[in-house]
Amino acid sequence: MIADDDEDVLGMTKHVRGATRALLVSLATAAALACADTGPRGDRVIIMIVDGLRPDYVTPEVMPRLSALRDGGLSGENHHSVFPTVTRVNSSSIATGAYPRTHGMMGNSVYLDWVDAERVLNTGEVANLRLINDSSGGRLLTAPSLADVLERNGKTLFAVSSGSSGSAMLMNRQGGGGGLAHPEVFLPPESQDAIEALVGPAPPDTAPRMSLVAWTIDVLLEHGIDALDADVLMIWITEPDGTAHATGVGSPETLDILRSVDAEIGRLLDGLAQRGILESTNILVTADHGFSTRTGTQSVAALLRERGLKRTETDVVVAGGAIHVNEGGEDRVREIVRVLQETDWVGPIFTRGADASTTQGSIDGTLAFSTIAWDHDRSADILTTGNWSSAENEFGFPGEVMEPGVASHGTLSPYDVRTTFIAHGPAIKQGVRSTVPTGNIDLAPTALALLGLPVPDGMDGRVIDEAFVDGPDIDAVEVDTREITATATWSGRSYVVILQKSFVAGTEYVDLARVERLQPGQAETPESPVSELPVVILMDSPHPARVYDEETRVANGTNADVLSDILLDLPIRRLKESIGPDWHRDEEILQLHPDLIVIHYSGFRQGDGSGPRERLKLLISYFEESDTRFLIYSRQEEARLRRSVDELLSDRERDHPGLLARIEVFGLDDYGHRDWRSPLTANPLKLRVKEILGLEG
Ligand SMILES: [Zn+2]
Repeated sequence: MIADDDEDVLGMTKHVRGATRALLVSLATAAALACADTGPRGDRVIIMIVDGLRPDYVTPEVMPRLSALRDGGLSGENHHSVFPTVTRVNSSSIATGAYPRTHGMMGNSVYLDWVDAERVLNTGEVANLRLINDSSGGRLLTAPSLADVLERNGKTLFAVSSGSSGSAMLMNRQGGGGGLAHPEVFLPPESQDAIEALVGPAPPDTAPRMSLVAWTIDVLLEHGIDALDADVLMIWITEPDGTAHATGVGSPETLDILRSVDAEIGRLLDGLAQRGILESTNILVTADHGFSTRTGTQSVAALLRERGLKRTETDVVVAGGAIHVNEGGEDRVREIVRVLQETDWVGPIFTRGADASTTQGSIDGTLAFSTIAWDHDRSADILTTGNWSSAENEFGFPGEVMEPGVASHGTLSPYDVRTTFIAHGPAIKQGVRSTVPTGNIDLAPTALALLGLPVPDGMDGRVIDEAFVDGPDIDAVEVDTREITATATWSGRSYVVILQKSFVAGTEYVDLARVERLQPGQAETPESPVSELPVVILMDSPHPARVYDEETRVANGTNADVLSDILLDLPIRRLKESIGPDWHRDEEILQLHPDLIVIHYSGFRQGDGSGPRERLKLLISYFEESDTRFLIYSRQEEARLRRSVDELLSDRERDHPGLLARIEVFGLDDYGHRDWRSPLTANPLKLRVKEILGLEG
């Protein structure tokens, strides 16, 4: 039950967010008193990575075996890929339990001038990884891997992959413990003979790559389990990634390959059952990233060339979304950022922060690398990625990115970030769905905990102990969701990047980032120039305790999202602004010269409802000299809200007579419904906005 935040009640209880609902009551609830760190919770752990497996692919029709595994275990419905949401970044994060900030693998392609100043290196090729490793004194990754940690504890990891040689090597780059098997890379090298003697040589690599996938299943069973009896087995299943890149998200070809992948997963499960070890094996299934349909036509490099900001191969180097500015200094960085901010198909933009504590990048309207855990001495000068929407493609799958291609991933769209997580086994709750945030950084710590081993310092991820039979109740896990913004305004335009993050017990997850652009002149028509429409700013908090209805809460939205929809057909320019205790964009909002600010009375309060109303007063004080109007809403009686607002601002009114006359209030309790999804409240609100702005009709 979400506490009503609007009542000025003393002694408000601390709000613990039931962000998750165990849809089937876990048998473990009674045992969830303590999560013992003693002893293993099963005989072995299998970490299965299915490349590009969107959660909505896992249906009983398309993937019956994997669906059954999910339904009999834990379905993690808020699982996060690591940004950039590409394969080698996530392969590294799965192997190390860490973000790029810690492991140093910054993208699928990287530019490291101390390795080669002339070219971008594709990290899918093992030869390039060896080059980086040799040039850095063995620091291909700058974090220890799960295999190293296990080896120190007398345990073994064996990894097998049908993916690229690069992504394979990143799973166990030193070949520690049980080693690594990939058609091009066997660690230790002599293991190749033993493996080929068991299962034959790897088949030729032809698309689609199901015969290669089948070979890796055989290697896992006959070498990893029968011969090595490894404690942790990692298997990388390279499809449906390749097929989806070529034919689209949810295309008939992609669905066909998913059926084949599911059959191979079934063969693995049957192999475990035949050996009598299915019941003693904990299985974690994930995907390195989600997937989106591509609708764009231009690349970042082409844009910069077109605008004269990249003239040679090396003055400005673009590696994925990373932009390295070798010539032109800070001025060139600033010029490039401005062009990116002006370009509709470009999404969020990040630069280096002035120091570790700031969320703001070095250039206005950019967020710091640290906000996405991408701050490393291998970072570029700028990191950007495509803009996105939730539009459905021709096959009915949502998620579009305005970059070129058929289908891909890599962005901060929730469709690229959100990915599959399934846990199943003797240590795992049964028949449970969880929306507690988890991520690919959590797999290594969780595998260690399943083996009864401590998690070393330096791993960014956490143990997903709410999945464990002896772990905490899912509903009791406290989740904090926040938005961080950066804004640039110039010549009547504005660009805002909004980054949403979730936090669980100190572990951070990047949920998504979106951008809002205000471009007067764009889409102007003679009848109603956009630049002359009244500007209405809708301000509310993303904190779940502030959100009035469950549907919006589940979508991580704000009341402002609902209000924006209510006001959709009015001739106004609507801007949404997420606020909270740390918000400080008063000056930037003033610069937009809004005609009306619609704001939640409690929008600045802390998650638990505490915190002064003084913050609202401070915002309004910025507008004392303007003619901006305010409409303040709250879930209480309107007369009472009016008295509270009058009292709060009485001294400001003395200094600025007429201020209170520009402020109206809307108390939902006078309208018979307590959220914005009812016409009982939506219609009067809309009418009030029209009256305030003097709109016809
Ligand atoms: Zn991938």
